[in-house]
Amino acid sequence: MTSVKGSEMTTAEVAPAEVDVAIVGAGMAGTTLAMVLGKAGRKVALIDPHRIHHDEFRAEKIGADQMQLFTRLGLEEAVMRHVTPVSSIHVFRLGQLFAREQKWEYSFSYGSLINGLRDALPREVPITVGKVAEVSTGPDRQRLVLADGSVINARLLVVATGYSEAVRRAVGVERIELSKAHSLSIGFDLAIPPHECAYQAVTCYGKRAADRVAYLTVFPLGNKMRANMFVYRTVAEQWTRDFRENPQKMLNQLMPEISAQCGDFAVAGPVEVRQINLTTTQGHRRDGVVFVGDAFWTTCPTPGVGIGRVMVDVERLCTVHIPAWLATPGMAADKIGAYYDDPVKVASDEAGMRVSLYAKQITTETGLEWRARRLRNNAARQLMIIGRRVRHLGLRREPGMA
Ligand SMILES: Cc1cc2nc3c(=O)[nH]c(=O)nc-3n(C[C@H](O)[C@H](O)[C@H](O)COP(=O)(O)OP(=O)(O)OC[C@H]3O[C@@H](n4cnc5c(N)ncnc54)[C@H](O)[C@@H]3O)c2cc1C
Repeated sequence: MTSVKGSEMTTAEVAPAEVDVAIVGAGMAGTTLAMVLGKAGRKVALIDPHRIHHDEFRAEKIGADQMQLFTRLGLEEAVMRHVTPVSSIHVFRLGQLFAREQKWEYSFSYGSLINGLRDALPREVPITVGKVAEVSTGPDRQRLVLADGSVINARLLVVATGYSEAVRRAVGVERIELSKAHSLSIGFDLAIPPHECAYQAVTCYGKRAADRVAYLTVFPLGNKMRANMFVYRTVAEQWTRDFRENPQKMLNQLMPEISAQCGDFAVAGPVEVRQINLTTTQGHRRDGVVFVGDAFWTTCPTPGVGIGRVMVDVERLCTVHIPAWLATPGMAADKIGAYYDDPVKVASDEAGMRVSLYAKQITTETGLEWRARRLRNNAARQLMIIGRRVRHLGLRREPGMA
């Protein structure tokens, strides 16, 4: 691959890089796609404005099912080097201990994970650091001109630029806002170190619809205890300003049942707040170009399906669609449509959107139907808590039982 470096070279002097696939955006989707395609011997260009992904508040935890998607693509080893595994989670509902879940979760700092994956890219797939200045797409060849004048020609263009709009707009696709200001994701470090925390990890659900709290999850991340809270509020609300100013006071009011175990909610470092919009894409069925991960749809972090959706896109593209597309001439829109119509991708996107909408409704809706649903769910949970207590008492009374 050729990329222009230094002022002595001009576009006219440099032969354009010729690749099978040009991927714009080296986040989770772009980097993992480049890794798998590169390992399979495809000629790939991966372009991002920054060599080092900055440390921004994004996904910080995945479950075992999402880890399996990395495993299936041969990426587990590269991912495992950058995660903190968690195997026991105490779950609080209705102000009481509801369950002790024995399951694997993996926490990480998003920037470190992406940089770790970038470092694990095959030698044949270096990151081209640059901004895309011009894009032209067609049924056979795609042409990218970067801001420094270098040119990349590809059979297929993959847009993996996440929330960013520049390349999407240049290609001419539109983002549709399905639910604007849908929720807030809040991230902060707790002052208590992991070894002083009573539990390895805690999840505590909101109690009242009026609180608009989905849940708080507290988990170890390296040598810190990290907290993510998901609430159905907006950045401009007084509640959000108050939370930023005094998270400890507000957490103690909202979740006193886990305060002692979490070091009285003393917070270390800044409170990061991100507004989440649910979006889909329109006008994406085009010659030569495909949209992947958050560049296609964005869902809500509350149900924790974002990384899973991204990895389903990557898995379908590199195991099914891209090999088939490259094996036949042309790259017209009807060929690319197979990816958007792929039942596995469609099911993953639709389920992600459905649970994102449902999680908000079941937490905040005050109509009769939703109040009845909440009552039914909470009654069932309360019965489970009582049943477990009765069984526990019975066991303690039975002679000879420890
Ligand atoms: C606050 C928050 C919390 C979240 N929590 C969870 C969670 O707990 N669980 C979960 O599963 N999901 C969660 N998500 C969702 C998850 O983080 C995303 O779905 C996922 O990171 C999207 O990956 P991506 O590769 O599509 O986009 P990104 O990782 O955003 O990658 C986009 C890349 O494109 C590059 N780029 C941008 N513009 C250009 C350009 N013009 N030219 C070239 N490159 C460009 C960027 O530099 C970046 O490297 C969360 C999201 C947020 C915002």
